[in-house]
Amino acid sequence: MARRVTIMPGDGIGREVSTAARRCVDATGVKIDWDEQIAGEEAILKFGTVLPRQVLESIRKNKVAIKGPITTPVGKGFRSVNVQLRMSLDLYACLRPCKLYKGVKTRYDKLDLVVIRENTEDLYAGIEFAEGQVKTKETIEYIEKMSGSGIRQDSAIGIKPISVTASRRIVKFAFDYALKNNRKKVTAVHKANIMKETDGLFLKVAREVAKGYEGKIEFEDRIVDNMCMQLVQKPELYDVLVLPNLYGDILSDLCSGLAGGLGIAPGANIGSDMALFEPIHGSAPKYAGMNKVNPAATILSGVLMLRYMGETAAADRLEKAVAQVMEEGRDVTYDLKSDRNDPSAVGTSQMADAIIAKLERGD
Ligand code: NAD
Repeated sequence: MARRVTIMPGDGIGREVSTAARRCVDATGVKIDWDEQIAGEEAILKFGTVLPRQVLESIRKNKVAIKGPITTPVGKGFRSVNVQLRMSLDLYACLRPCKLYKGVKTRYDKLDLVVIRENTEDLYAGIEFAEGQVKTKETIEYIEKMSGSGIRQDSAIGIKPISVTASRRIVKFAFDYALKNNRKKVTAVHKANIMKETDGLFLKVAREVAKGYEGKIEFEDRIVDNMCMQLVQKPELYDVLVLPNLYGDILSDLCSGLAGGLGIAPGANIGSDMALFEPIHGSAPKYAGMNKVNPAATILSGVLMLRYMGETAAADRLEKAVAQVMEEGRDVTYDLKSDRNDPSAVGTSQMADAIIAKLERGD
């Protein structure tokens, strides 16, 4: 029987890459009954809200979803639909594997990292007070009274909640992932030397959780600025990284850059009984509608989805087909050519066609 899966095409380049992923997942032969839902700007026009209730209901019911990127206005406008989805559905673990594929240009010979980012709190909790508003002034007064520290009156304020509950479950997720996937080491990343209470708590909890895995999985911690330098210089020393929300967001883009760029970097948002798969990259509006960008990140998100659904053989075949097409380097998008202006670069849908042809031939 076909398994029902929610699909959100997204906007910008979203529809192009998600269509490519859907076609490739279908070509594995796994029977999926796609439940298409819209969110973001298109949903405002149709339903008057960026995240219609039926989207959340569909994911809660189907338990598995895949989406293309959705645009978020910068510095104004509505709150990120992506963040709202992760928070509303308590998809607390963001999983972003970064590994080398032959044929993809990178500066490294060895790299196989998994970034695990906490998805529900930290500065992404969305608790912000705008500069100049009455409640901001009251918040400033209250914080000054409670902390004894001065805050400039013309400040905007953001709140960074880090809890024992969320820290414990994300670090536990990282260790369990490491155990299940034959990984050797978990590195907790923080800035606890400066943020002693918030990041300090994350680190304290990480150390406690690590004790439960002693002798099975190695544990260490790194301060986030040092971690950035270490990743650029010697990424081969790292295995599974676990981070609070903001550092996790930034470092996963950094790691995707190490592996060859956003065009090939997949992601998953996982909760206790449901998951939403999506590429790391955004909606790249300047390329929208051009059939130009790389669909691999979304197709590889489909591979993560198939694994989550227990369709391991189909996932392996699809990942192999993507890897072969990238290694051959012929039917690939501009970002995978050594010269980005190479006229032989193919479009999004043609790269998907080449992957499907490989799958069907099964070489
Ligand atoms: P972006 O990832 O959309 O694009 C940055 C650059 O990366 C592009 O200009 C392009 O050169 C390259 N790129 C991205 N995807 C590519 C692909 N598939 N193939 C080849 N090259 C690719 O980042 P941005 O410009 O910072 O963000 C654009 C919008 O996307 C913003 O509104 C942002 O909020 C949103 N966004 C959404 C998500 C999501 O839906 N989960 C994630 C990140 C950003």
